[in-house]
Amino acid sequence: MELKNKRPLAGMTLDELQRTVLALGMPKFVAKQLADWIYNKRVTTFDAMVNISKANREKLSEHYTVGLAAPVNARTSADGTVKYLFDVGEGKQVETVMIPEDDRVTLCISSQKGCRMNCYFCMTGRQGYSGNLTANQIINQVLSVPEAADVTNVVFMGMGEPLDNIDEVLKVIEIMTAPWGFAWSPKRVTVSTVGVKPALRQLVEETQVHIAVSVHNAIAEERLSMMPLEKIYPIKEVMQMLGDYDFAHQRRLSIEYIMWQWFNDDIKHAEALREIIPDEHVRVNLIRYHMIPDIPKLRTSSDERMAQFRDYLNSRGITCTIRRSRGEDISAACGMLAGKVKAAQPATKPQPTRKTPTNK
Ligand code: SF4
Repeated sequence: MELKNKRPLAGMTLDELQRTVLALGMPKFVAKQLADWIYNKRVTTFDAMVNISKANREKLSEHYTVGLAAPVNARTSADGTVKYLFDVGEGKQVETVMIPEDDRVTLCISSQKGCRMNCYFCMTGRQGYSGNLTANQIINQVLSVPEAADVTNVVFMGMGEPLDNIDEVLKVIEIMTAPWGFAWSPKRVTVSTVGVKPALRQLVEETQVHIAVSVHNAIAEERLSMMPLEKIYPIKEVMQMLGDYDFAHQRRLSIEYIMWQWFNDDIKHAEALREIIPDEHVRVNLIRYHMIPDIPKLRTSSDERMAQFRDYLNSRGITCTIRRSRGEDISAACGMLAGKVKAAQPATKPQPTRKTPTNK
């Protein structure tokens, strides 16, 4: 996507665009025009930016590229979910998942090439880590999927731990929510994390986006056996820290909890989870586990045990729902992203079937 020796403009904040145009000897207002063309009108070439003088467009194109590139591949699920593959240089690719549901189109985006959190159950974690995505590579996923104009919500739940790449993620959130960018309400954005505590505090203080914490087990030693970050930032302390902030009004705090048979689906686990939830405004999403051949030890919890777990939390005043699965047949579901698409299809706009809505 990023041409050799030319830097992409998409992914720059207004401040960065201003510094860029001033360095090229152009008036500062050209930065606002660029932001409007890239983030609002969403053009992909300098030629299309007709209110910028030809001389300035030529100067820009000598040093910069707009920096948008379409996905290189796509797979469509029977339920209308589409998994896109984007090139991110050095032979690496990342996945972006488009989930249509009634009048919403949610885009699940990636923030890193692989991940270094090494969660036992996750295909991305098993693939290792080869670097952070730039703000350009993250925002390109939002601007360049065929459904870009229809996207209603963005969730940072794809490949990587977004808070391990906090600087670039904050830039992208600024682009999505600033008046010179997409001008979206922060309620349209959710950042999911396994609990990188210092960066999570920064995110909560500097933005108003929704937060989703991947807990998956509230018993410390059991969680540690699956999620090594527990050793550095125990989930109990992460939730205590979040208890200092207001999630009752403008923004939402939710807990993601994948259910594994016998491992974390007992009532004692529901009790442990209730104990670390700071208040009744926190919602819990129970997620059905998708069997991964490499990890035969982990099995999906039964419907009955998931319902018991949900009912326990509901009876203790916690809103808890069982999330239905999307995109399992194309390995697009939670924990299944691995940066590869098996069967090639052109990345054209699909016709969502919308037959099996879920709340992913
Ligand atoms: S679950 Fe999230 S944090 Fe853990 S390895 Fe996978 S992508 Fe990384």
